Amino acid sequence: FEMKPIYNRILLKLSGEALMGDQEFGISSETITSYAKQIKEIADLGVEVGIVIGGGNIFRGLSGTEQGIDRVTGDHMGMLATVINSLALQNAIELLGVPTRVQTAIEIPKVAEPFIKRKAQRHLEKGRVVIFGGGTGNPYFTTDTAAALRAIEINADVVIKATKVDGIYDKDPVKFADAKKYTDVTYTEVLNKDLKVMDATAISLCRENKLPIVVFDSLTEGNIKRVVLGEKIGTTVIN
Ligand code: UDP
Repeated sequence: FEMKPIYNRILLKLSGEALMGDQEFGISSETITSYAKQIKEIADLGVEVGIVIGGGNIFRGLSGTEQGIDRVTGDHMGMLATVINSLALQNAIELLGVPTRVQTAIEIPKVAEPFIKRKAQRHLEKGRVVIFGGGTGNPYFTTDTAAALRAIEINADVVIKATKVDGIYDKDPVKFADAKKYTDVTYTEVLNKDLKVMDATAISLCRENKLPIVVFDSLTEGNIKRVVLGEKIGTTVIN
């Protein structure tokens, strides 16, 4: 019996907060190792893996403005935070023997490669996990939009968005006991109902390019593999 992934190439989006574990800030080594193991599992299945990671565990541009930091400066700080997370994740994955590359949207050549689509594709074909740091490289964007953008650029079959909840609900499941979970939902419904999945820029980019999004709970170990093997967990956003 051979487990066969339903995707050849995926883009995994991890939030920065996902790395905190039960800490208040920063990177939990236990949590990052657990993600690295899950990533190794799917790479071992032959899936080509691109990753975009957020920076919210270190810095967010918008929270900076509350402390008097100019928005663009704050966003630069946030983008650099995603580079820090990318390097930490690269290290954790390579400790498990999986080759990786980090490519950044903001060039830091002593630290990582610049983002070059063709190079990224070549790495993926060779079985290297490619981590895209620095978001889109532009202020006023999010790492969700970076995930959608990179997924489209590298021709990924899907964006897999790891979250703390087990899918998309019609209302906040923490506040409302009768909140209903979607198995499938359309991009348009997500936008019209302002469902909390990804920001509108990311969703419309996915809609225009017919890129499916799977939202699932990544706290349960093994879930990334389940999604990749086609098990129907979480919610799928499609047309
Ligand atoms: N950011 C940005 N442009 C991008 C991606 C990210 O300016 O293309 C900045 C922005 O300030 C954001 C921070 O980087 O708050 C961290 O990213 P995000 O909030 O998306 O991380 P997550 O919530 O996924 O941890």
